[in-house]
Amino acid sequence: MDAVIDVRGVSKRFGGLTAVNNCSLSVERGSITGLIGPNGAGKSTLFNMVAGNIVPDSGTIMFDGADVTGLKPHELFRRGMLRTFQIAHEFSNMTALENLMMVPGDQPGESLLNTWFRPGRVAANDAAVRQKALDVIDFLKLAHVKNELAGNLSGGQKKLLELGRTMMVDAHVVLLDEVAAGVNKTLLQDLAANIERMNTELGYTFFVIEHDMDLIGRLCDPVIVMAQGEKIAEGPMEEIRANPEIVEAYFGS
Ligand code: ADP
Ligand code: MG
Repeated sequence: MDAVIDVRGVSKRFGGLTAVNNCSLSVERGSITGLIGPNGAGKSTLFNMVAGNIVPDSGTIMFDGADVTGLKPHELFRRGMLRTFQIAHEFSNMTALENLMMVPGDQPGESLLNTWFRPGRVAANDAAVRQKALDVIDFLKLAHVKNELAGNLSGGQKKLLELGRTMMVDAHVVLLDEVAAGVNKTLLQDLAANIERMNTELGYTFFVIEHDMDLIGRLCDPVIVMAQGEKIAEGPMEEIRANPEIVEAYFGS
């Protein structure tokens, strides 16, 4: 197995509570790997550690074969890992296309992250960036709304735009945290189709936390199940669904 993310015996405590308990799991390069489990299982904490938002108490996180434990999000970004996040408020008055152009592909991570938070620093006249943004918006089939203000886009279109940003910066591993939340069924299909195309056509690896089991079942293989801070199962969704203990404990009936 060619693990692009390899979490080795990682733990994180909050006061007396162990959120992640000596957890080991890995994400294979080129996969769309799902992470599911009941509320409080430690999924977000695990994600936050992988993405560099939280430093583990113990254990090691490997990315692309290197120890990245404790590295900051922008340092991970520079290595090609990106977590999508919601389009910040100040960007809602910019068009969809301008939102993508805020993320020039050739800048190092730190200044790029600054760029995201400082609209004034956009290289708006950079023809190459504009062309790339147009390509990305075409790929996502959002060309019809490229001149709409981002604030006027639907929840699902905003999610597509967030996905588009990862394409502007050439991340190759993308962490998605509950992308389906607040997205209507039709756009959810578009979102899923785009994630699949980014995976199959462009070679992106995805690591996905999601509550929508249909979406997980459609997109993800393998699916990793966490409970009480530990990985308790891993396999294709059909296998997970067919495991009576897991079904009993986590899916209800
Ligand atoms: P999940 O995403 O699977 O629902 P979380 O990782 O959010 O689980 O939470 C795991 C456990 O850690 C929960 O009991 C939660 O209340 C606790 N927890 C998460 N973040 C914090 C925090 N910043 N401070 C204290 N407790 C936290
Ligand atoms: Mg969570």
